[in-house]
Amino acid sequence: MPDYGRARERMVDIQIARRGVRDPRVLEALRQVPREEFVDPGFEEFAYDDGPLPIGANQTISQPYMVALMIEVAELKPSDRVLEVGAGSGYAAAVMSRIAARVYAIERHAALVDAAKRRLEKLGYTNVELRVGDGTRGWPEAAPFDAILVAAGGPEVPPTLKEELAIGGRLIIPVGLQQFHQTLRKVTRLSETEYEEEDLGGVAFVPLIGEQGWAEDGRRSASNHVPGRSRGRTLPDMIADAAEPLPELDDCAFGDLFDRYAGRRVVLLGEASHGTSEFYRARAAITLRLVEEHGFTVVAAEADWPDAATVDRYVRLRPALTRPEPPFQRFPTWMWRNAEFVAFANRLRLLNEQFDPKRRAGFYGLDLYNMSGSIAAVLEYLDKVDPEAAGVARQRYGCLTPWQKEPSTYGRAVLTAGYRKCEQAVIEQCRALLQKQLEYAQLDSDSFLDAAQNARLVAAAERYYRIMYYGGAESWNLRDTHMFETLENVLEARGPRTKAVVWAHNSHIGDARYTEMGTVRAELNVGQLCRERFGDEAALIGFGTHTGTVAAADDWDGDMKVKRVRASHRDSYERLCHDCGVPRFLLDPSGDEALRNGLVEPRLERFIGVIYLPETELQSHYAQASLPRQFDAFVWFDETQAVTALGPQHAKPGTPDTYPFAL
Ligand code: SAM
Repeated sequence: MPDYGRARERMVDIQIARRGVRDPRVLEALRQVPREEFVDPGFEEFAYDDGPLPIGANQTISQPYMVALMIEVAELKPSDRVLEVGAGSGYAAAVMSRIAARVYAIERHAALVDAAKRRLEKLGYTNVELRVGDGTRGWPEAAPFDAILVAAGGPEVPPTLKEELAIGGRLIIPVGLQQFHQTLRKVTRLSETEYEEEDLGGVAFVPLIGEQGWAEDGRRSASNHVPGRSRGRTLPDMIADAAEPLPELDDCAFGDLFDRYAGRRVVLLGEASHGTSEFYRARAAITLRLVEEHGFTVVAAEADWPDAATVDRYVRLRPALTRPEPPFQRFPTWMWRNAEFVAFANRLRLLNEQFDPKRRAGFYGLDLYNMSGSIAAVLEYLDKVDPEAAGVARQRYGCLTPWQKEPSTYGRAVLTAGYRKCEQAVIEQCRALLQKQLEYAQLDSDSFLDAAQNARLVAAAERYYRIMYYGGAESWNLRDTHMFETLENVLEARGPRTKAVVWAHNSHIGDARYTEMGTVRAELNVGQLCRERFGDEAALIGFGTHTGTVAAADDWDGDMKVKRVRASHRDSYERLCHDCGVPRFLLDPSGDEALRNGLVEPRLERFIGVIYLPETELQSHYAQASLPRQFDAFVWFDETQAVTALGPQHAKPGTPDTYPFAL
């Protein structure tokens, strides 16, 4: 039986406290309520995962973080009387009942109310009253309330709920004219007639259906937004005015415009595909500038940790590793085996030559796909520093041996064939290594960081491949959380006030809360976690293009092809940038309110990954996003070219693998 107590503690620490929820009453209440009791049978294992889960009647139990955030901003006190609209499973009501004096909860589905009542009774939570009904009409007999929380999104704030607030009372509700895409609002009642409203950011809730919400058939009273126009000037005109033109890529002044980010702790540089030369070259120029002039010492990329370690040794002039597998052999090889990246590695090495070893900028991989490489690296390390521990590690990792070559089949095997899970073994191995930190790190702290990170990676990858089988948000969230935690570990290992540049796809670095990833699929990402952790000390910079060519495959594991990128869609952000007529620019809309307002309504944005399917581009590669919320700035190249891939399949047969040492 899983250790739910531990899972709950971990959930509170990692998903809630680390994302900035501080109210001790909220954290304590979440530590008390057994969430596994509130999910459908069979879903208990996922009760502490970072997302919503189905609870029947086509409804969901909200993501734990969202429950925590809403309760925190509602500022619940022990004497409060609270109304919840959309009780669902009863979980949020149960959490609130641990803080407030009395909770009234309404749910429109009778079956959910019955199940919620049974759960609360079983747990002995007697200060919650539940009833079936339309919550937009409030609960007049019990009003006024000190706090009202609405767990479903409506087109406006229901006037009845505002009236049922006590003076000083707080109403928290998702509001938006698009279903499943709202902003979270906090309405505070100041007096009989005055209210104050605050916008707390993008969220995605199921629709609030009722008299003062949406109609049952989903009809909405949307106001007609006119895209592309603001006060008589077109949005492309406004972009052209605000755009700061960039010099040619090989101009040594290219990075100068980015000096404004010199004081940030993390500068995240995106890309709109995984195979565009200009994106690599621009990121290289910006990064070298930040390293040379502004003391950045970490370059952390969406690359596999053990493979990136080879590059790190090269750029920091440390002795090369003797690993059996050359780096970046796994699909998509062109992401790091390309001429643009090799040129960057060589320039970084040259730059590092001028610095003493502590000041040299390292190259670190944030990703978790090369599990077999990480296993080999841990064993190689232990063979050197502690052969006895290496023997134990070999046994523990032996559990994963059948799947090392094809880890994606591991999840299915564990589920369907009843294979033993390797979870315990890999976690124990990770713990064992970390416990020896004092002893091992004394010998060589860089090598210890490498080994510890590989051990963490194996533990994360084991879970990743196991839950990947279910699909959905959970595996994505695990991967991005691992990437973020790796970044944190590297920052910590390199010392206080270390500054990092992160290279990853726009889908990882643009704040997920303002794209369909967050609002529709409950996915989070590195950019969001960085904002939550570093606040204004993080700069999220997206990249985009209108047309040109790109290196990509037709399907996973397929051959790389150079493909033509279709002209951007007429309803996309890319088309607005193209229409502005400036070929290369940096756009920071934060200082221009009219422009920001013009851009803020969600519209299409293009995401090309390692696969590009131009024939089905609209369905496969476009998603809704709110660009000025997703990014702090945007870098534009109107026309772009594919990267120059370097193999290994592109190498002449029989030539030794010298990557990344030579072009
Ligand atoms: N707080 C819940 C929990 O912890 O499980 C999650 C609630 S779920 C995201 C939203 C719920 O709102 C759904 O169960 C839905 O049926 C309910 N709902 C939608 N419109 C409603 C209305 N007008 N009155 C009451 N409940 C409503």
